[in-house]
Amino acid sequence: MDVAEPRCDTDVMDLTRAGAPSEAHELALVLAGRCRRCAERIPGAAALRGSPCPRCEATTARTDADRLAVASLLAARPRVHLDAAVVIVLGATFATSFVPVTASLVLGGGLIWVGRRVVRPTLRLLSPRRRVVSAWTIRLAGGVWLAGSAIVMEPLTLLPAFGSIGKAAIAASQLALAGAFSRAYLSSQARREAAGLPVRAAEWVAVAGASLALILLSAVAFVAVAWVFAKIAEAATPPR
Ligand SMILES: [Zn+2]
Repeated sequence: MDVAEPRCDTDVMDLTRAGAPSEAHELALVLAGRCRRCAERIPGAAALRGSPCPRCEATTARTDADRLAVASLLAARPRVHLDAAVVIVLGATFATSFVPVTASLVLGGGLIWVGRRVVRPTLRLLSPRRRVVSAWTIRLAGGVWLAGSAIVMEPLTLLPAFGSIGKAAIAASQLALAGAFSRAYLSSQARREAAGLPVRAAEWVAVAGASLALILLSAVAFVAVAWVFAKIAEAATPPR
């Protein structure tokens, strides 16, 4: 892909000072993975690499500063979605904490929501290969995170008052941390894309490692949940 093909100056969008309404609109299109002039979908990584629109030849982000601006705006955008999800998960976990597994399901729902609203729009702007490795890293890391949280949260079902507060606090903070990790990770991937760096071999190794960790932690989480159910059944059985 050519990066610095010289073009007419009027065709250049300075993303570092996108103050005017038209510039803000063009920036919104670029951040949505579309051409700023014809609004057609542009291929992944086109904006971050500064390659032109394949349909109308309009420049996407030409200078290094523009590409870095796209990368950092991309990472800053989903903040509000994440805050809303944390508040909802906090309330829902607290309200349902006396039933086993519900807190884990609520946290799982929160993680899926973060995936839809925070992760997916950013993935669209990455190149196909980087998109695959990033998507799987985040999916598997999310699964590991959820299984690990379940191992800690589920036994708290057995503690009446403190358990509810504990579960809600754990679920909300785990979601906030998962969101912060996703944003930092995607931001670094966007920066690597903008700098034209390839996907590292170590990133595929991390995906394999996360798969193994997920299998292991899921098994432990299953045992933890089974143990909690056994304890509840034991408490419900009248002594003979
Ligand atoms: Zn175009």
